[in-house]
Formats: sequence, C-alpha cells, structure tokens
Amino acid sequence: MTETVLLVGGGGREHAIARALSGSDCALYACAGNRNPGIARLADGFEALDTTHPRAVTTYARRVEADLAVIGPEAPLEAGVADALDDAGVYAFGPHEAEARIETDKAFQRRFMRERDIPGFPEFETFEDMDAACEYIDTYDGDLAIKPAGLTGGKGVRVMGEQVDAEEAKAYLRDSDYDRVVLEERLVGEEFTVQALVANGEVRVTPAVQDHKRAYEGDEGPNTGGMGSYSDGTLELPFMDHEDYMDAVEIIEATAEALAGYKGVLYGQFMLTADGVKVVEFNARFGDPEAMNTLPVLNTDFLDVLVAARDGESLPQLSFEPNATVCKYAVPEGYPTEPEAGAKVTVDEAGAREIASEYDGEALLYYASVDEREDGIYTTTSRSFAVVGVADEIAAAEEIAEAVLNEAGEDGLRVRHDIGTAELIQRRIDHVAELRG
Ligand code: AMP
Repeated sequence: MTETVLLVGGGGREHAIARALSGSDCALYACAGNRNPGIARLADGFEALDTTHPRAVTTYARRVEADLAVIGPEAPLEAGVADALDDAGVYAFGPHEAEARIETDKAFQRRFMRERDIPGFPEFETFEDMDAACEYIDTYDGDLAIKPAGLTGGKGVRVMGEQVDAEEAKAYLRDSDYDRVVLEERLVGEEFTVQALVANGEVRVTPAVQDHKRAYEGDEGPNTGGMGSYSDGTLELPFMDHEDYMDAVEIIEATAEALAGYKGVLYGQFMLTADGVKVVEFNARFGDPEAMNTLPVLNTDFLDVLVAARDGESLPQLSFEPNATVCKYAVPEGYPTEPEAGAKVTVDEAGAREIASEYDGEALLYYASVDEREDGIYTTTSRSFAVVGVADEIAAAEEIAEAVLNEAGEDGLRVRHDIGTAELIQRRIDHVAELRG
C-alpha cells in the first residue's frame, strides 16, 4: 500500500527528510511556515501554514489523507502538534508535548536525569529568581553554563570561561527576561551528537556527528543554529573511541526507556570530557544540520522505520553506507546577530551533482530559509542552504563541499570553511588527548 506521509517543517533538516523519503513508496506532502523550494520540488503538495498551530496542521493532514506524519522542528512538538495529529488518527513520528519536554524544558531534562539515575549529567541548579541565580554565580567555585530553561534556537546559552566572565553572566541574567534558568557545571571537552530513532520501546542509533555552533572559524563568535557538521564512515568520530560512542548509546537507551512510550527521534548532545561522556542536552527531533549527515548515508528505507513505528512493530535494524559526510551551511552575511537578506542563491541541485561528478563522491544541496521568487532563490535572515559532501574519507567529503560552495559564490553569504578540514579535526584529536593526559 502506498503511504501518504505528511512532513512538518521547512528547513535543511526537513529537506533531508524529504529526500530520504523521495525514493520510497509514498506520496509526500509538506507544510511549513516558509516555502522550501527543495522540499516543494520533491513533494506532491506543499502548504504554507503556521506549524505551531496544531489545528492548521491536522486540517491539512486530513485534507491530504495522511497516514502518518514526521515532525522536523522542535516548535511544533512544543505546541503539541504530535498530540493533535495522533488524536486526529494520523500517526506522528515525533513525541507528544509532555515527552518533548526533554528538549523544551532544560530544567525538566536535568531533574529527569537525576530522578531516573541516568548517568552523565553535570551538577546543576534551577532558578526562577534571577537575583538568586546571580548569588549562586558569586558563591559557586568554578565556571558555570547559564541556560534559559525554554527554547532559544540554540542561541540562549552563555558559558563562563568561554564566552562570558562572572560579571557578564550576571548582567546577562539581569538584562534578559527569562522566567527560569538552569545553572550548571561547565563541561570541558569535545561535543558530539548521537541521534536515535525510537518507537515501541526500541531504540535504533545512528553514527556520531559533530556540529559547529559558533558563528566563525576557529569556534569564535556567537552561537548559531549550527554552521555545519561532519561524520565519519564509522559509528564514532576521529577523536573518540568506540567505547565513548557506546557510553553515549547507553545514556540514550536509558533515557528512552525512562521516557516510556516515547516515539520519534531522540537526539543526545554529548561532551567527551576528562571524566567521560556527559550530556549537554537532549533534543526531541533530528538535528539541523546533523540530519543532513545521517540521512544521506542511511541505507535502510526510512519509510520502513516510520511504518513499523506506526504499526507497533519492531523497528528495522539500521544500516549505513560506510561513508564520511561534511555539511557546510551558507548563511547570510551578518548572521546570527545582524543578518542581511536578499542575496541571490546561484547554485542548484543539478549543478552540485555535476561538480561532484569530478570527484569520487557525491554532493547534496539542501535548502533552508530561502525565499523563492519569480527570478530565482534569495536568502532570508536565517541559514540559507547547506552543501553536503559524501565520500569515503572526511577530507574528500570536505573537498567536495568546498568545491560546490566555491562554484556557488559567496556574495552576501558566509561559510565556515574550517569545518571538516584536517587541521580542525586534528585539533579535536589533540584536545581529547590532552584532556585524557
Ligand atoms: P544547548 O542549547 O544546551 O545545546 O547549549 C548550546 C551550547 O552551549 C552547547 O552546544 C554547548 O556548546 C554549550 N553548553 C551547554 N551546556 C554546557 C555546559 N554545561 N558546559 C559547557 N558548554 C555547554
């Protein structure tokens, strides 16, 4: 039977989900606040709507007679879109609002780990009173990470000893209007992500990915939604041992089990520290950019996973192409603080493929927040598009991504050219070696 799948969301991550489904036996419909030209081309229908409005999504789902839905971003999960779709008889691969709190409420997330004895959480306190939080900063012996409890698109955290000193941290708390913050021990190490597909009490993990949140090369500048990411042809990354990966998997499995009934993607953000693997945060959906590393190398039919999840069956075991991937986002000049929109995007998917054909590998183009006009595609004030190189080695994948970006031109755009380079990866390896003494 041909399934009718509704995809919720219009970023690079959702473009990757759409492409993962495009070869499968399904009719694909998509809805998002922005018209993503990449998704619109792959889908049988595309509706512009507010995806944080559960009724708008269920109405569209009914209209297209969706059999199941995949929810890409966190905002619809927080708004209860998965609950509403399930209630409307459309299986949503995405957690209900209550389970999505593992991402949408960082205070809940930390308390949940503590209460359930899940290993790997840092020392933390939560505050509703900002004066009390400031006092805690004054009395705490060491550096803290200051984290608003709610969603901030990855941009709300300030880390003492890295981005701010104690005075700046206090000023940040006093000047912001957060109702609740988590103050936690600063973790020092290398970050990595492991994403798992979860349903029916089963957990299927995917290869580790490293994202780059800072805006500028050399990990400088403000935090962003993510400037790019890489994965290796194995489950782990060059700076990790297999045991580190397995420690992360154990934490994800324990968390999924504790969140009984969870369905969707459970994304663990980890820090490999001198004391082992620690949890930076959980997300309740694929990462953006990390989905663009993972889905292109997934050999298992993603639709089969969704259907098994819906039908209460055992999830298929996942297999991955043993290829490395390097994903680089092109963002508007000035992003994230003073982004300037309106630059024309000159690269297209066919062009990217042609460039890659000169290399031993593949190039994929994913659109994010762009504006499609009559005379072409233009940037907005958010991340514009991502290029992913896929090859047998990270270095080759990086070269492919760069070749496409180079051809695309960078007028009005900015790219972190250091992501996936041998130099940066060596720095990660040296960093971990130094931590481990
Ligand atoms: P989050 O929104 O929790 O992922 O935080 C955004 C970024 O802030 C993370 O990717 C880390 O780079 C940093 N961060 C968060 N928590 C900590 C921590 N406890 N120690 C050091 N860095 C952190």
